[in-house]
Amino acid sequence: MTVLITGAGLAGLTLGLSLHQVGVPFRIIEAIAELRPLGFGINLQPAAVRELYDLGLKDKLDTLGVKTGHTSYFNNRGQEVWSEPRGQAAGYDYPQISIHRGALQMALHETLLERCGVKAILAGAKVSEWQESPRGLEAVLTDRQYGFEIDRLRGSVMIASDGARSHTREVLFPDVGLPNWRKSMMWRGVVRAPRFLDGRTMTISGTKGMKFVAYPIGDRGKTQSFVHWIAELPSAPDRDWKNQDWSRRGEIDDVLPSFADWKFDWLDIPALIGGTEAVWEWPMVDRDPLPSWTEGRVALLGDAAHPMYPIGSNGASQGILDARVMARCLRDHGTTTLALQDYDAERREVVNAIILANREQGPDAVLDAVAERAPEGFDNIDEVMPEAERRAFSERYQVATGMSVAEVNAQSSIIGNIQAEPIAGRLGD
Ligand SMILES: Cc1cc2nc3c(=O)[nH]c(=O)nc-3n(C[C@H](O)[C@H](O)[C@H](O)COP(=O)(O)OP(=O)(O)OC[C@H]3O[C@@H](n4cnc5c(N)ncnc54)[C@H](O)[C@@H]3O)c2cc1C
Repeated sequence: MTVLITGAGLAGLTLGLSLHQVGVPFRIIEAIAELRPLGFGINLQPAAVRELYDLGLKDKLDTLGVKTGHTSYFNNRGQEVWSEPRGQAAGYDYPQISIHRGALQMALHETLLERCGVKAILAGAKVSEWQESPRGLEAVLTDRQYGFEIDRLRGSVMIASDGARSHTREVLFPDVGLPNWRKSMMWRGVVRAPRFLDGRTMTISGTKGMKFVAYPIGDRGKTQSFVHWIAELPSAPDRDWKNQDWSRRGEIDDVLPSFADWKFDWLDIPALIGGTEAVWEWPMVDRDPLPSWTEGRVALLGDAAHPMYPIGSNGASQGILDARVMARCLRDHGTTTLALQDYDAERREVVNAIILANREQGPDAVLDAVAERAPEGFDNIDEVMPEAERRAFSERYQVATGMSVAEVNAQSSIIGNIQAEPIAGRLGD
């Protein structure tokens, strides 16, 4: 009755910890031989934080991340268009947390090894194919680099959390074609910099296609923060956008000149970019919503199921919620296809709606609407757009994505914070 999990990213590791919590045997297969703390900043929405706290990770999250106080929107002159409290400051029962993706992945990994032992993860092996039979499934594991067969593992079901470039999704849905590219690229970096605003604010400046996002993901002493930034710029159509590799290095000079004038009184963006040691680039892509996340004994989860534009801070959070719902379904229905179908029914339409809402710019749409009315900036934002109209952009997104304060606070946690029982018998063969 083992559950095979493909990929030890945030979603796969959360699923492993959750299955351990509910007493379902599992084994994670990860293509990379040695996990390292890769990536930059991500945001965890209160609903996802609740689930990670339920897994006993409160101390780690609170230590590693920053509790986001506000999200604030600015035009390309640094004038404030809209600002709203987030997390507990907005009335949620749980905080929103800005955190380094790699640090979170390492915390999940470390916790999994402590609770389940090293055999819980088989690293350095890629799931390249699988065969189903009436009684189960056999996954073929190959070497990531050279492609030779390493092993075969049997399970009842396989949950593919193998990321935005999921091989499993390609096998299940060979006709879905290429990702949708928004004809822009994103450059990302992390830099130690003087604290800005209240040291807890996520900032989004500019308009669609030319945007600068910056927020602290950790404190450095009393006056400095580790700041994660993302710069989005339009790209030439012949740009190599199909190479989606989280480890693809970019050039500071590709991005710095375009933001040379963005010296705001609350943040010096050229200084922030210029002070960054290394930047990475990633194309602005998403995928069309899928008509199903399950096929026989296999289900997609996390980015494998729903790569979305990084707008509205939902990517990682939705993967974590997927994992918790999947674990509850596998507990309730056993490791059966019924469990996978139940998971699909509960999650797919909800998350597909977020993919579509993000295509419409999510809450960031307020920036484009204000820029259209006041392209040269403004003296008084209320004269450009009244407060209620600006507030509506965010409220519409929160309702469309099921993330409003009322809705999230009304939900009970997906599994609860029951303590996992000792490890014996919890791992699959
Ligand atoms: C190296 C890296 C850096 C990232 N950096 C950022 C960032 O800075 N900001 C951001 O917003 N998002 C980032 N992401 C994406 C972010 O982690 C996801 O959007 C989100 O957390 C959902 O996670 P996931 O577990 O579904 O996918 P991922 O976190 O992408 O994890 C997928 C995992 O599956 C493994 N894998 C892939 N194919 C196979 C296979 N065939 N067999 C076995 N294992 C396989 C991968 O090695 C990876 O560990 C990054 C992802 C990666 C892998």
